[in-house]
Amino acid sequence: ADVAMYAAKSNASSVSLYDNSHDAHNPRRLAMITELGAAIRSEQLVLHFQPRFQLQEGRWCSTEALVRWQHPRLGFIPPGEFVQFAETSELIRPLTLWVARQAARQLAEWQHAGLEISTSINLSTRNLLDITLPDALAELVQEFGLRPGSLELEITETALMTDPDRAMQVVARLAELGMRMSIDDFGTGYSSLAYLKRLPLHSLKIDRSFVRDMLQDDQDAIIVRSTIGLAHSLGLQVVAEGVEDLSTLNRLREFGCDEAQGYILSKPQPAERACLIMQTPPDIPPSGALQRD
Ligand code: C2E
Ligand code: MG
Ligand code: MG
Ligand code: MG
Repeated sequence: ADVAMYAAKSNASSVSLYDNSHDAHNPRRLAMITELGAAIRSEQLVLHFQPRFQLQEGRWCSTEALVRWQHPRLGFIPPGEFVQFAETSELIRPLTLWVARQAARQLAEWQHAGLEISTSINLSTRNLLDITLPDALAELVQEFGLRPGSLELEITETALMTDPDRAMQVVARLAELGMRMSIDDFGTGYSSLAYLKRLPLHSLKIDRSFVRDMLQDDQDAIIVRSTIGLAHSLGLQVVAEGVEDLSTLNRLREFGCDEAQGYILSKPQPAERACLIMQTPPDIPPSGALQRD
């Protein structure tokens, strides 16, 4: 039963928006493949930022930079549709460096304005095999004068396992350069706990598929609670992804979860709106209070 549940969750989190997305003749897909390179160069991409909240201290602590494509004909395209095309081509390095540059620039602005936050960007599998990427990212940190460790990198278990030796080298270099790393979508990929122990990680982000139903599904609650325990005993911080209601937020706080991210706190927003949100603490009642939502 555990194995079946695990498989169902993995599928749910990687489900494609398109039935025909693998059809090479799909015109939308073709347009994306042929135009993505130019889109990266011509500023058709935008970053949205999703604020992250420190549950125990009750303050905003970070944001995740999430890329979107504002296509002139096709409109707004979410990353789930086009990042895959970058990943399977040489475009993933320019895409990631574009995202990193915009995120670093924005973070520098926020830090100058007095916000005590960090920002994370997502790395893809290919990025973790690119041995020259860490130094390119470190140059951006320098160029924008960011506080050490305030540019965080989200990596996935599956990306680490693709070529573990090479990925380990890249991760080691990133850590040496002072960057913090977290495991994204934790629990949905293929990884071994032995790896967690050996990697210089800062945090685990528990996948939304476990957080979503944890108040209804005892097994999900057990997974979330034991992941928090495991992470803490390995000296890692824990972030819960996809928190959509107050009761879940409060249960996470009771479980000792460090941080939360999700629609109940804020959706991903353009930078100015994210900044406005982070200038005031969210209206979250203390966990002891009676709640209905
Ligand atoms: P992710 O890194 O796990 O990012 C979290 C995703 O969950 C985001 O979707 C976010 O909008 C969504 N989300 C956050 N809170 C909630 C919630 O409470 N409820 C629900 N239903 N969803 C929530 P988004 O922006 O569509 O990004 C999807 C994925 O695309 C990301 O998953 C990440 O894997 C990838 N991605 C996004 N930006 C980049 C990027 O710059 N580079 C790379 N390589 N991948 C990216
Ligand atoms: Mg992420
Ligand atoms: Mg995630
Ligand atoms: Mg996810």
